[in-house]
Amino acid sequence: MDIKFVTVILPLMLPELLTYSVPESLKNGLKPGMRVEVGVRNKLYSAIVYETLETLDLPYKTKPIISVIDHNPIITEKQLQFWMWIARYYCCTPGEVMKVALPSGLKLESETKVLLNGDPSEIDTFNLSDEEYLIVEAITVQHQLTISQIQDILNKKSIYPIIRGLIDQGIIAIMEELKEKYKPKSITFLTLNEPYRSNPEKLTEVFDKIAKSEKQTRLLLAFVQLSKNKTFSIPASDIYTLSGGNSSIARAMAKKDIFTIEKKTISRIKSDVADGGPTIPPLSPMQITALEEIKGHFQADKPVLIHGITGSGKTRVYTELINETMQSGKQTLYLLPEIALTTHMVERLKNELGQDILVYHSRLSNHERVEIWNAILLGAKVVIGARSSLFLPFTNLGLIIVDEEHDPSYKQFDPNPRYNARDAAIYLANRNHAKIILGSATPSMESYVNATTEKYGLVEMTERHGTSVLPEMQIVDLREAYKDQSFKGIFSPTLLSAIEEALAQKEQVILFQNRRGYAPILECQLCGWTAECINCDVKLTKHKAFNELRCHYCGSRSKLPEMCPACGNTHLSEAGMGTEKIEESLAAIFPEARIARMDYDTAKTKTALESIMVDFELRKIDILVGTQMITKGLDFDNISLVGVLNADSLLKYPDLRSNERAFQLLTQVAGRAGRRQKQGKVIIQTFSPGHPIIVETTQSLYGRFFKRESGERHMFRYPPYYRMIQLEFLHKNAEVVAKASAEFARLTKKQLGERVLGPAVPSVARIRGYYINTITVKMEKNNLLTAKIKDLLLSTSDTIKKIEPFKNVRINIDVDPY
Ligand code: ADP
Ligand code: ZN
Ligand code: ZN
Repeated sequence: MDIKFVTVILPLMLPELLTYSVPESLKNGLKPGMRVEVGVRNKLYSAIVYETLETLDLPYKTKPIISVIDHNPIITEKQLQFWMWIARYYCCTPGEVMKVALPSGLKLESETKVLLNGDPSEIDTFNLSDEEYLIVEAITVQHQLTISQIQDILNKKSIYPIIRGLIDQGIIAIMEELKEKYKPKSITFLTLNEPYRSNPEKLTEVFDKIAKSEKQTRLLLAFVQLSKNKTFSIPASDIYTLSGGNSSIARAMAKKDIFTIEKKTISRIKSDVADGGPTIPPLSPMQITALEEIKGHFQADKPVLIHGITGSGKTRVYTELINETMQSGKQTLYLLPEIALTTHMVERLKNELGQDILVYHSRLSNHERVEIWNAILLGAKVVIGARSSLFLPFTNLGLIIVDEEHDPSYKQFDPNPRYNARDAAIYLANRNHAKIILGSATPSMESYVNATTEKYGLVEMTERHGTSVLPEMQIVDLREAYKDQSFKGIFSPTLLSAIEEALAQKEQVILFQNRRGYAPILECQLCGWTAECINCDVKLTKHKAFNELRCHYCGSRSKLPEMCPACGNTHLSEAGMGTEKIEESLAAIFPEARIARMDYDTAKTKTALESIMVDFELRKIDILVGTQMITKGLDFDNISLVGVLNADSLLKYPDLRSNERAFQLLTQVAGRAGRRQKQGKVIIQTFSPGHPIIVETTQSLYGRFFKRESGERHMFRYPPYYRMIQLEFLHKNAEVVAKASAEFARLTKKQLGERVLGPAVPSVARIRGYYINTITVKMEKNNLLTAKIKDLLLSTSDTIKKIEPFKNVRINIDVDPY
């Protein structure tokens, strides 16, 4: 093929692909999916080739590409198609898809900063080319350089291929990753010495020997805990995190011949597989039946929805399917909500698969992300990841699992592409002829409708694995409770005595409250002042530990006022209860108990989250108070009681999905209780014990919930029976935004009539200083119609932006906005 032109995707918000010409010298071997260096408005970018063309009639002259960065495509053709589908379906540009899809380590721009990846003395300068040497030398002196500075140094424009070469050799790295903790390539392991390794019973002698040192005992306990899968060599840092210990304690123990401390070089993305090989428990009869049903549906080329109650053993079914997929030489993508991607879960999968698995999520460093990217290109078999792992370059995808498919975090809300990873996964599987399985204890309305209409195969697992049973559910009617004068605060006598009982039995308790902070409202009862955000139309939450007022919408903070700023009254009153206040009140009631909190404030980083999880697993925490975070990933045996402090707060959102969400949350949080042997208990406090959602949750009536909810959705022409697109108009001036959205509605109503609803002012009418109006478009489920409507919405939004007073109005289009 004689390539003359290419169309390319750039990481910019351009509605169309740009076309460049290809100079003679660069056309050999050029393929779609390779990166090329191009100029746009005096800046250089690395762009992805979308198409190579032999001829083209263009009314203008095209600029040439400057260089070809890659020797082989880094994006497969299937991926390119997938990007284009996402862009079309979710009404955004291919460049916006590229931004989420490519790890930034693969995106080079003029402003990208590079630096040395390690000690300059370790670089084998002898093997560098002259130009490479110049770059390395300059960075050694100046510590970091932007790509445009390097262009000056080499006195040439086209340098991306050289940069790429140096990155590939591991000599330089891209700056951004330094913001994150850099994981060294060689790490320290503690290895258990003989005779304890072959003779674990002998460990009791060691425990006796070190009994005097609490620190050493804790360290050994942590080692035992982490080695329960028969690994005798464990990363020291894991042990320190778990035990709160450090290297000097380990050295003391090495002197006593308990451990050997050794450094091992590891790949950043791989870890050791358990020495003992996989520990795969045999399938239960229910799991065997489920597998047979799944395979039947797969034969008929259908996606499968597995509706299995919490603890029914879905994960083991997945690992069986993954193993089979691996054996057939194909790749598996296992999607999980980000927060459920914990060491706990990953370890469990590693054990059952006896395999190294790659883990991909947003908290990895760039380098790790690029390594995983390349490993997948080379055919790595299993990757477990959060929603963005859909964009990895699978070459031979055989199976996708979407675990907890109902989870709202599969949807990216902001920025574009506002995609739902579950729905996009269905498309991706179809395009790759891969099997796909969605799993949940509380399937989304969308998926369940698809199952009942036989678009998907449905597999049910209705009992917990083994002897475990669903917890006993109890409703506490707060109206009744408040009649008793002695009841103040938020803990009903029923809940208190259940907590007491659990603590007495040395069992653990989880308490759920979906508000973080101390008190959600701070007000002055004299003059009526309430603390509100200056940027948003919301009340500020008091955070006692930080001594601050914080806005949960824009993140703004201010010092806690000592008196009312309006009238000077020093007695400000608080209303509502956040997790922080609950933690504090509990400590007053149960001074002996070890209480911890898990919410956005305490578990902001992955390390913080992990350490709470580990402490909880090690039973260093008796009562854990938390927001929705606690509904995911806490699959531990010793939780006997789950309390929901105020279920009503889940039921009153003005949102078409609030009932569905409430059902899912309550069921999931309840499912944390009593995972093994003993039956657990769930106590739900509510002012509306008769609310259908409360009744359906407490009696595990998914079927009844689904029927009632689907009746309502039908009646109001809501999804999943109708398609919905939501438009958001934002501007700093309320009047401008109102006029722009009204004009948009007027223009589109001409063609779409009653399908267009609004404009409306949302319940939070201003965020970060921007006033918001929304328009909702509801339409029949018909692909042709939907595509036409999307085109109309996009072109109308262009029209609006061309009207002078509206030109700075931001218009966000959100397809399937839930
Ligand atoms: P789910 O994912 O449906 O909530 P899990 O897969 O977590 O359920 O299983 C619940 C519990 O049962 C877990 O502790 C798991 O280790 C155990 N389990 C599941 N299947 C088996 C099996 N075949 N043999 C032994 N234990 C199992
Ligand atoms: Zn006042
Ligand atoms: Zn705010």
